[in-house]
Amino acid sequence: MSSDFNEEKKEGFDAALSDSELRPSRWEDYIGQESIKNNLDILLRAATERGTHPEHILFYGPPGLGKTTLAHLIAKTSGRQMKITSGPAIEKVGDLASILTNLSPGDILFIDEIHRLNKTIEEVLYPAMESGMLDIIIGKGPSARTIQLELPPFTLLAATTRVAMISSPLRSRFSGGVYRLEFYSDEEIQKIVNRSAKILGMKTDGSAEREISKRARSTPRTANYFLKRARDYAQVHKKELNEEVVIEALKMLGIDNEGLSPSDRKILEVMAEKFNGGPVGLGTIAAALSEEEATIEEFNEPYLIQKGFIERTPRGRCLTQKAYEHLGIAVPKNLQDRLL
Ligand code: ADP
Repeated sequence: MSSDFNEEKKEGFDAALSDSELRPSRWEDYIGQESIKNNLDILLRAATERGTHPEHILFYGPPGLGKTTLAHLIAKTSGRQMKITSGPAIEKVGDLASILTNLSPGDILFIDEIHRLNKTIEEVLYPAMESGMLDIIIGKGPSARTIQLELPPFTLLAATTRVAMISSPLRSRFSGGVYRLEFYSDEEIQKIVNRSAKILGMKTDGSAEREISKRARSTPRTANYFLKRARDYAQVHKKELNEEVVIEALKMLGIDNEGLSPSDRKILEVMAEKFNGGPVGLGTIAAALSEEEATIEEFNEPYLIQKGFIERTPRGRCLTQKAYEHLGIAVPKNLQDRLL
């Protein structure tokens, strides 16, 4: 049952598939997210004028919306070296200590998936972020002692897809701000696809970009992935890359006209068929699909909610009328009462 979910993650609907060739390296190419860009501009200019490193910043939002790209752009703008790691890669306090003590003054440290840091490590990070001190306990039992190391000044940039899992003490230490990335409009996605097509040397008539933007989950990474798959399809079938080819290529990937993937549709179907449209808890949906709750919450649900297929109510998730219509299933009579 869960093969669609795994397949989609592996295939790059959310995995970082050769992102680097299409990753913007100039602010002009970073489309959308205007409010975040304006805030970062002030923050970076102020830090430069004061001659200090930028303050710590947290980015959050669904995968593929441009968090890592922002970190790269900040490093480039501020002319600083960036070391990259991730929450799951930091297994022990010693791992974090070694990363922090190896930073040069003014470096940027980027921690992706910071919600996956364990609590003990998180507590070591607090004083490091706040006062540039690293407290390490050496030894065990009565002979244990704490040593304090002074760290070089640094900026922590962090990204997460699950901001609710970030404890409030950690969140409050991002003194440069906590920024939520928004889904992109179709026009913005179209601009991104246009640029990617140019970089990849692809000839299109404009209709391909339009069609991709309608179905790309409002997500740049997905749009770039679809563009590459449509290119492959056009190449193999010796066709021009246009709207028609995009529709055919995406059909092969199981993407429908609303941009829903097979795993999205399975969620909606299971909610309609097994739970009568809800309200139903996320854990229950995940169990019914033999899927991990986190995958559904991080990867599928934000887009389904944004598109208006699912609503979150205090009693659980509910299907909307639009979802029933999309699935071609009769809308239950008392649907509106449930959504209240
Ligand atoms: P995240 O870290 O949020 O998962 P990334 O920053 O890795 O997402 O973005 C994935 C890819 O999507 C990038 O390599 C880039 O090609 C594209 N991308 C993301 N945001 C933008 C943007 N605002 N403008 C242009 N391309 C973008």
